[in-house]
Amino acid sequence: MEQVLELKNIHYAYHNLEGETPALSDISFALGKGEFVAIVGPSGCGKSTLLSLIAGLLVPEKGLIKINGKYLRESTTNVGYMLQHDELFEWRTVYNNVILGLEVQHMLTARTKEKAHELLDFYGLRQFERARPSELSGGMRQRAALIRTLVLDPDLLLLDEPFSALDYQTRLTVGDDIGQIIRREEKAALLVTHDLSEAISLADRVIVLSGRPAAIKQTIPLIFDLEEDTPLARRNAPEFKTYFNLIWKELNTDE
Ligand code: ADP
Repeated sequence: MEQVLELKNIHYAYHNLEGETPALSDISFALGKGEFVAIVGPSGCGKSTLLSLIAGLLVPEKGLIKINGKYLRESTTNVGYMLQHDELFEWRTVYNNVILGLEVQHMLTARTKEKAHELLDFYGLRQFERARPSELSGGMRQRAALIRTLVLDPDLLLLDEPFSALDYQTRLTVGDDIGQIIRREEKAALLVTHDLSEAISLADRVIVLSGRPAAIKQTIPLIFDLEEDTPLARRNAPEFKTYFNLIWKELNTDE
């Protein structure tokens, strides 16, 4: 399988006046094209730190990160980063928020503008294009943030608890959409979540991290015997509970 993301022996610690806070210890894993991987671990263990390193916002103390076979600093691959807070700007309309990334990256063309409209239509926001973010519900805002990320056509999607603000039904739909896009268009996604059910219903594999500094405790492949593999079908499948218990146990045992 072609690798979109590769991490080898990553170590990271925060340094400040009080001293050193080790956050990540010897993290290695890879993501292939079309793969959706979830990361779970205790609160404060280093999950967001890991995504910040992959997004290039922090630099690892040791180890290497490659995206599409190139070292991160030389990579030109589009990486999409979605956070729990939608970070929409109130002074811009919904449409102008959605095209912000395209503007910043000098990618605003007739084709990409059309794609933005198409996505807004698909996610039921077409009639809100001229609205301000404050006029939208939490779920709609999060969908607008998702469109802003997807319109850049990223090969790698980093998702940091992006569904927490959504209601249950929207969560399932948006999760399903992202899963389908990742698999159909052979992109890759890395999802950080504290919600085990979400991880199990969406991912191909779950990486379980230890407490801080985070090390990989276990990687659990998720295999479901389903005709149509959707998040909802998974939640109702017998394997779901088995995986839930397995990951729960893994998270709650000290080694
Ligand atoms: P998680 O996403 O798993 O909840 P984080 O990656 O946000 O955890 O944080 C990991 C650890 O690093 C936490 O203990 C946090 O307090 C610490 N940390 C995060 N950012 C900083 C910072 N800028 N300076 C010092 N420590 C930090």
